[in-house]
Amino acid sequence: MKTNKAVFLDLNGTLVLPLKQESFAELKLISGAGRAVARLLEANFICPVVTIQSGIGKGRFTDKEFRDWFFDFFGQLKLDVKGPYICPHRFVEPCECKKTNPFLYEHAATDHAVDLSRSYVIGDTAWDVIAGKNIGGRGCLVRTGWGENETEYQRVEPFMAYSGKNLSDVVGWILKNEK
Ligand SMILES: [Zn+2]
Repeated sequence: MKTNKAVFLDLNGTLVLPLKQESFAELKLISGAGRAVARLLEANFICPVVTIQSGIGKGRFTDKEFRDWFFDFFGQLKLDVKGPYICPHRFVEPCECKKTNPFLYEHAATDHAVDLSRSYVIGDTAWDVIAGKNIGGRGCLVRTGWGENETEYQRVEPFMAYSGKNLSDVVGWILKNEK
């Protein structure tokens, strides 16, 4: 039985910045994002991280280097996020794991018995928001990272359930919405 609810989280621009790092050590949590994830976990949401890491496909870093950073980073924060669910491909490569396809979200849903129709996707791009719609859930935009861009906002406005100034804001809306 798929009984869990999930909030799928994008990584770069939603949880951490900058958008493009020279080294993983540069990546810093966006203000309030750690507490926001903790609130979702306390409310019994599963929080899979779904991320495009085209740097792997470009040979800038390896899948293992990325995963090592990921487990260390979220381990130190003591945040039990799931995954990472990674699309390692370059944008020009056709692949089924690319956002806005449901592939990685469905994979996470199978791993963690998630009911996608009761779930949310939060990210800073139109791809995240449209993916939320494509899985039969709700897509929310954060106005951090790419989401600061007015064009991105306008592209995605027809598809989104909510947009907030950052993760903390969107999580506040979800928790209120669930009451
Ligand atoms: Zn891919």
